[in-house]
Amino acid sequence: MEDNCIFCAIAKKESPATLEYEDEEIVAFWDVNPKAKVHILIVPKKHISSITELQEGVDELLIGKMVMVAKKLAEKKGIAEDGYRLVFNAGKHSGQVVEHVHLHLMGGGPMGEMA
Ligand code: AMP
Ligand code: ZN
Repeated sequence: MEDNCIFCAIAKKESPATLEYEDEEIVAFWDVNPKAKVHILIVPKKHISSITELQEGVDELLIGKMVMVAKKLAEKKGIAEDGYRLVFNAGKHSGQVVEHVHLHLMGGGPMGEMA
C-alpha cells in the first residue's frame, strides 16, 4: 500500500468504488468519470506506479491476468460481440492521472478513432 494512492485505498476497501470483480491480486471497478457507456478499470492490488515501472520476469503474469479479467468483464457486460477498447495510459504524454497501473475497459458504443 502506497500512501495517498486512491487505487490502493480502493483495493483495501478504505475508499468506496462500485466493484465488478475481485480476486487475490486484482480488483475491477467502474470509472467514477466514465468516458463510455461501459468504463471499468482493472487494477492490480500491488502498487505499481506505471507500466513504465513493470519488472521483467516479475509482472508478466499479473498483466496477463488483468487482460483476461478485462476480456471476461466485456463478456459479462455484453460488449464483447460488438467490441471494446483496452487502454493503458503511461506517463505525462498519455495523460495518465492516477499513478497506479490500471487498464481501462471501454465500450457500449462506437469508440471513434484513437486520438
Ligand atoms: P488515467 O488518465 O489513465 O490515469 O485514468 C485515471 C482514471 O481514474 C480516470 O478515468 C478517472 O476518472 C478515474 N478515477 C479517478 N479516481 C477514481 C475513483 N476514486 N474511483 C473510480 N475511478 C477513478
Ligand atoms: Zn497504489
